[in-house]
Amino acid sequence: MTKAHIAGYPRIGADRELKRAVEAYWRGELDREALEATGRELRARHWADQCQAGLDLVTVGDFAFYDQVLDLSVTLGAVPARFDAGDEVARGEVDLDTAFRMARGRAPSGEPAAACEMTKYFDTNYHYLVPELHADQTFHLASSRLFDQVEEARAQGHAVKVTLLGPLTWLWLGKARDAGLDRLSLLDALLPVYGEILARLAEQGVEWVQLDEPALVQDLPHDWQQAYEAAYSVLGRSPVKLLLASYFGGLGDNLGLAVGLPVDGLHIDAVRAPEQLEAVLDRLPAYKVLSVGAIDGRNVWRADLALLREGLAAARMRLGKRLWIAPSCSLLHVPVDLERETELEPALKGWLAFAPQKLDETVSLTRLLDGRATPEDRERLEAATLALQARRESTRIHRPEVASRLAGVGPADHERRSAYPVRAAAQRRALKLPPFPTTTIGSFPQTAEIRSARRAFKAGELSREAYEARMREEIAHAVARQEALGLDMPVHGEPERNDMVEYFGEQLEGYVFTRYGWVQSYGSRCVKPPVIVGDVSRPGPMTVAWSEYAQSLTDKPMKGMLTGPVTMLQWSFVRDDQPRETTCRQIALALRDEVCDLEAAGIRAIQIDEPALREGLPLRASEWQAYLDWAVDCFRLASSGVGDATQIHTHMCYSEFNDIIAAIAALDADVITIETSRSNMELLDAFQDFAYPNEIGPGVYDIHSPNVPEVDWMVALMEKAAERIPVERLWVNPDCGLKTRRWEEVEPALANMVEAARRLRSRLA
Ligand code: GLN
Ligand code: ZN
Repeated sequence: MTKAHIAGYPRIGADRELKRAVEAYWRGELDREALEATGRELRARHWADQCQAGLDLVTVGDFAFYDQVLDLSVTLGAVPARFDAGDEVARGEVDLDTAFRMARGRAPSGEPAAACEMTKYFDTNYHYLVPELHADQTFHLASSRLFDQVEEARAQGHAVKVTLLGPLTWLWLGKARDAGLDRLSLLDALLPVYGEILARLAEQGVEWVQLDEPALVQDLPHDWQQAYEAAYSVLGRSPVKLLLASYFGGLGDNLGLAVGLPVDGLHIDAVRAPEQLEAVLDRLPAYKVLSVGAIDGRNVWRADLALLREGLAAARMRLGKRLWIAPSCSLLHVPVDLERETELEPALKGWLAFAPQKLDETVSLTRLLDGRATPEDRERLEAATLALQARRESTRIHRPEVASRLAGVGPADHERRSAYPVRAAAQRRALKLPPFPTTTIGSFPQTAEIRSARRAFKAGELSREAYEARMREEIAHAVARQEALGLDMPVHGEPERNDMVEYFGEQLEGYVFTRYGWVQSYGSRCVKPPVIVGDVSRPGPMTVAWSEYAQSLTDKPMKGMLTGPVTMLQWSFVRDDQPRETTCRQIALALRDEVCDLEAAGIRAIQIDEPALREGLPLRASEWQAYLDWAVDCFRLASSGVGDATQIHTHMCYSEFNDIIAAIAALDADVITIETSRSNMELLDAFQDFAYPNEIGPGVYDIHSPNVPEVDWMVALMEKAAERIPVERLWVNPDCGLKTRRWEEVEPALANMVEAARRLRSRLA
């Protein structure tokens, strides 16, 4: 019999119970016992869901109060010294509060201590805490949480499979904190602790342990490939069966390596990389289990069970009971409960599958392949076929006018009328800005009053007129303050937007929003990505009235504010029935109309934010260029409809810039504002070797900090920037939007920033 399992389940709960409990615990409103009880309840419920759906094994080890990578670091005893947990590590029981401090930045004394760095888990929107690695790092089994959870699941009568991040991916995700430290040099010290964990699990009666090694779908240097062989020849001798799990893509040139490692089974992603199935089948040793990740763990679409049954029939024949079926990766990346979406149109809802539906799909597919389908399985298969047929034919998805407009787009639509130097001259005449012009990134504080007005409006308690009047007041307030501060290019402040993607998605055709489709982003933070179901188009202007109003309040050039096509794509669940690039181009065309309408309404500068451009980079370097080509194309398609005198800005907030600097330049925005302040202008090193051709505003202060930046500090940063970039192409601005700050913090900070610009100008004279 084919086995059904999953790599992991969402832990937040359908009501975001985890978030609520953890935050209440932090506020001191919930005690430890109650927090632990919530954890136990969630685990029990999720295991019961898996068991009732008919999975052969439930997965233990995917639960964490904050982050599973953090929990593993703690379990391995890798707690940075500043959290002063030496005794806890030595005792083998690091406290949960210590883990929370690592995540949130506090020493045991209560003094601030830098939180562990957080970054995106591969190409997902989930963020993990980066393991900190030191040359004198020692490892020590320092938590028994995992073993306790195994006991818990067994006590509830479940057949358990444990999941754990593998040693090489844990090191791969880690960051060397000592210069010259080769992370791989720590492997020998690390393996005994993994050995100890596996031995204890074996003692507990666990048969299978899934070691996640998604680093295998990336380009691995030769010494890392060798380290896999060395590590697994040691771990392979442990008394449990090991399932080596790869996901988020194909194994590529690591395929031979992965297939050959001395473990008992291999999991592959057959959604992102269906083509690798054949090759794996050909090379898989006869003693190994193959777990095929056939159900999409990264997206919300209902699976085509009939197609999958057909596609996997040969694998079933060849492998017999050595075939396992699973979602492609952990279901952590999909929402928790589709049943609650009672406001979604039924037809549309029928096209979707969230975590519980994906459990059912996994189980039904397994039974269909085995020829032991129940009437329920056959019903599911038929319902899926019908729903998918309806989706393929739906006129709300396929709108010929969108396709034909896209077909008519040519190279000229991606080009501004003139080259940057000509545009710059036209813009100088039109905008009359001083040297070192000052501006901000778009948003001003989202105050409690703004949020409550929006809530009242959405709940129908505040009329549209009243709501819009309130927002105009906010805009007037923001413009007046910017005038008083002396900013050269004001913004309207974005009070009408709660989220930079949702605001536009709600006004575009082709987007759908769920009520409860939450996905964990990091720690207690969840996001609710929109779903792009169909062809995207713009029924009418989205921002023009607000920008026009803001412009009417000042003589200074008001900067219009849009979210770029790549970010609109990247932060949504994207339809899987056409290339992502096609969807992105549709969004670009819709935005292009908005850009042109803004220009026609008298807006002379328009910013198109692309904070997600870099994170869209594929996991394999060989695929970067193709992605960057279409991403750049989309930005240019959105921004090129305007005349020379209209200034296009873009904004990105991250500091690893060097590897994509050519693509950033190819966007051909007149001005780019970027994050630099935290890295002390280190980012500008990229400009040493690459002459960035257009204007740039290197963020001079970190908006994530409540501290008021000093004038001298900002002047010094800009002087550093001026060593790399001609002064006539430099702007002065914060490094990101100000919506999370309070006005009391923003005003003195901007006053200092404007003063810094004045000093810089006076030095020019
Ligand atoms: N214009 C947006 C803001 O200021 C940009 C946000 C972002 O970069 N993520 O809030
Ligand atoms: Zn930003």
